[in-house]
Amino acid sequence: MQFKFLGTAAAEAVPALFCECEYCRKATINKGKDIRRRASYLLDDDTLVDFGPDAFHQSLLFDVDLLKIKRILFTHCHEDHLNPIELLWRRRGFSKVTKDIKIMGSNVILATLMQAYAKYTTITSFDIAHVIPVMLNAGEPLTDEELTVLPLPANHAPGKNAQFFAITKNGKNVLVGNDTGYFPDESWDLIKDMKFDMVTLDGTMGLLYPDSRYGHMGVNVVVEVRDRLLEMGCIDDKSKVFVTHFSHNGNSLQEDLEAFFLPKNITVAYDGLTVEI
Ligand SMILES: [Zn+2]
Ligand SMILES: [Zn+2]
Ligand SMILES: [Zn+2]
Repeated sequence: MQFKFLGTAAAEAVPALFCECEYCRKATINKGKDIRRRASYLLDDDTLVDFGPDAFHQSLLFDVDLLKIKRILFTHCHEDHLNPIELLWRRRGFSKVTKDIKIMGSNVILATLMQAYAKYTTITSFDIAHVIPVMLNAGEPLTDEELTVLPLPANHAPGKNAQFFAITKNGKNVLVGNDTGYFPDESWDLIKDMKFDMVTLDGTMGLLYPDSRYGHMGVNVVVEVRDRLLEMGCIDDKSKVFVTHFSHNGNSLQEDLEAFFLPKNITVAYDGLTVEI
């Protein structure tokens, strides 16, 4: 399986729009890995995880052929991960689309999408955009062709049914987390018998709030989660562990993050990073 980071930023992106902080100013000068788009991932060439406000730009920049995308999995309804308007351009009169796409997410994701349809169109059916809605319920694995996703409850966005995903394809397992906080007990229990080849973890609060664990994680808690995954046997020293979803509010500069994480064998993700699993 190939896993591509299309974006590694939290909600405001980096440099955050209009922000005067020192990290955003440095990112503007440094460019390269310090420019971060909103979190999204491409698995092989047919599956996206999250589709936020940078989707158009990311698809061009990273050569994502949107005509090959069969499904988009949504972690939660925050606007940096779900931009329903972009899916509405699939409807007749705006784009020529004949192929269906599966939109997979919680009840909140599907309701958010339907609300956008109701607001901007007169037709209240997913059919108008060739969308097949697929409900993801935490703890219930769902198989679509060769891909199986186990949705896991996240410690994030209370009341919004936020999830993260254990994804299995062709015998490889990936744990995809970006807005998770320290995992809830239920999620630890659901993954306890799994072994992951790759893991991505929520590093939003970064170096400035290292012990943050509710809603989003700081760097110390990222290491704590990695260590617990090791202790439980969910990963071993061959598993690839990444940290992602950075905010300028926590210091998102690649060099500073690498100085902390690299000695701990955790890779700091950046936009465009492609991983072969
Ligand atoms: Zn987010
Ligand atoms: Zn800033
Ligand atoms: Zn969020």
